[in-house]
Amino acid sequence: MEYEFKLPNGKSFAVKSWGNLAVELSAALADVKPVIHCWIQDADQDYVKSLCAAFGLRSLVYTKQGNPGFERLGVMLGKDESLLAETARVWTSPRSNPGPQLGYPACCSEFYCKWLDDPSSATGPDVIALIFENTSSPRKLPFLLNDAYYHYSRRGQPSDGDRREAMSRLNAGLDMNVLNVLPWHPCSYRCEASLKAGRKIWATMLKTAPALAAAIEPRLARPVVFWDWDRFAALEGKSGPGSLAYSAIVPPLSALGAAESALLKAGDRLKHKSGRSLEVWTGKRKLGELPGAFLLDFAAD
Ligand SMILES: [Zn+2]
Repeated sequence: MEYEFKLPNGKSFAVKSWGNLAVELSAALADVKPVIHCWIQDADQDYVKSLCAAFGLRSLVYTKQGNPGFERLGVMLGKDESLLAETARVWTSPRSNPGPQLGYPACCSEFYCKWLDDPSSATGPDVIALIFENTSSPRKLPFLLNDAYYHYSRRGQPSDGDRREAMSRLNAGLDMNVLNVLPWHPCSYRCEASLKAGRKIWATMLKTAPALAAAIEPRLARPVVFWDWDRFAALEGKSGPGSLAYSAIVPPLSALGAAESALLKAGDRLKHKSGRSLEVWTGKRKLGELPGAFLLDFAAD
């Protein structure tokens, strides 16, 4: 899959679907993200050179890992050469936070690092649950901050590779890697600094990569019942005070349990208290509850 970008000089460039590189480039063009980090193969170096030439970026290979012939290269991309070197230095220092160099708001970067550095994060709640807890009035959340499918910078588990593959199989044809506007986790779904940055990225994406924006928006601007990073249910629905009327579970699909899936499919309304204690109803009948889940009520602007 490729995403076409219209460049300021009138030419266009096809950006390969490498992780969320297309989103990160939109953030770089919007002057939100001064440095992009990516992993590439040795054979990709020519493509990266042509990408840098097209976008006016410089690149710095700061590490090579693996056996000769099968190496992967850690690369920083950005306009400012000294900032690339500084980011590489911070990136490779133990327990450091390269958030400021990567352009992330200080509030969000500190919130994320606090979660990551907490030893209980190995077994404790996902960062998405903490962001939700830190969100006031969690109704009609801005879709620009939807990080439910931002599977980067989450807690790593040995089964992650298998779970990612299972999710790709469920969502064949849908590039889940680009289902985000912010290339970081916000500190709250009301964070002003992240929202301001998200608006800049979105305006740039609409102008320079309209096909990418069109692919993203219908997936992000909708409510999601959320348990964990590979267990969620995106819904076709309309939110009201304390309840959400819905008609279907829609892609992206997840490893949702059969019981939860059947219960949601049997109902047509979620009753909840501020996004918590989700009850599934149809008409005047309560069918059951969804323990451990909360409602991320993302909506269009
Ligand atoms: Zn923030």
